[in-house]
Amino acid sequence: MMKVPDIFKTKKQTFSFELFPPKTETGYDNLLSTIKDFSAFKPDFISCTYGAGGGSREKTFDIVELIQKDFSIPTLAHLTCVLHTKDEIKKIIEDIKSRGVQNIMALRGDPPQDNPNWTPGKNNFKYSSELCAFIRQHFGDYFGISVAGFPEGHVLCKNKDKDAEYLKLKINAGADFVITQFFFDNKDYFDYVARLKKINVNARVIPGILPITSYEGLVKFTSLNGSSIPKNIQDIFEPIKDNKEKTISEGIKFAIKQCKNLLENGAPGLHFYTLNKLNPTKEILQAVVANLKSL
Ligand SMILES: Cc1cc2nc3c(=O)[nH]c(=O)nc-3n(C[C@H](O)[C@H](O)[C@H](O)COP(=O)(O)OP(=O)(O)OC[C@H]3O[C@@H](n4cnc5c(N)ncnc54)[C@H](O)[C@@H]3O)c2cc1C
Repeated sequence: MMKVPDIFKTKKQTFSFELFPPKTETGYDNLLSTIKDFSAFKPDFISCTYGAGGGSREKTFDIVELIQKDFSIPTLAHLTCVLHTKDEIKKIIEDIKSRGVQNIMALRGDPPQDNPNWTPGKNNFKYSSELCAFIRQHFGDYFGISVAGFPEGHVLCKNKDKDAEYLKLKINAGADFVITQFFFDNKDYFDYVARLKKINVNARVIPGILPITSYEGLVKFTSLNGSSIPKNIQDIFEPIKDNKEKTISEGIKFAIKQCKNLLENGAPGLHFYTLNKLNPTKEILQAVVANLKSL
């Protein structure tokens, strides 16, 4: 199965989907049919998130393995450092490797809700850059490594220049490319890329796209991850927040415009936060896919 950075050698722009491991059996069955539907779009890759803690973490690797085996789509296993010792992380990566998975999204993660005061000790990794270095040290070039980027600065580091320097540490430690947190003002994305270029970070920065389907949900989500809701988004979605259908259709309209603008201005693809649902990502993709150029 291909490493994602190898895909970049022949493709200027890629499109990809993020999924998460469902909590229930029904959710899992639904996900299987969603994966089948998504596979018809022939995405360049799919990624699957890693749980904050508890028993669901193993499911990430089952899903990733299944997507690769049954649908032949390169899949990226998210992996976070929180709650794991370095020894555990080594075993987990060996497991990922034994499943034929060659792509890892190396993340720090956040302490889970039921253990919010967890802090890393000497047997843990503190930052995702340490995880990147560890993967390269123990597994050489076997894995393609992606890392998280924050166009508006990470919620704990609102100094954007500093945050860009921390991103550079991840690239210098061996990461190949970046997938961003979602954002709604493309200027934030292009300014971020320019900020990184200025400090000689030239890795691909793939914008993360969140189609808006619920304004209330968005407000809650952004209060946790620090993304902002620009005034134009408030003006569109606040007045229709109780109208689900209208919110979804305006969300599609906004995302199509956002994606087209990103691609036309040189973004190296799109990574959709699908929330495990075919729609509205499908509708957005159908409207913008003609803009995806192969070399
Ligand atoms: C694309 C994407 C996918 C994600 N997938 C998951 C997932 O699957 N599971 C999950 O639990 N979470 C996921 N997250 C959330 C992520 O775990 C959190 O945003 C987390 O708070 C930061 O992770 P990181 O890997 O960016 O951390 P890091 O890069 O380690 O950064 C963490 C913080 O430390 C600062 N920092 C970094 N290096 C240094 C240093 N040397 N000195 C001082 N400060 C430093 C950074 O500015 C930042 O504030 C994802 C986020 C994104 C954008």
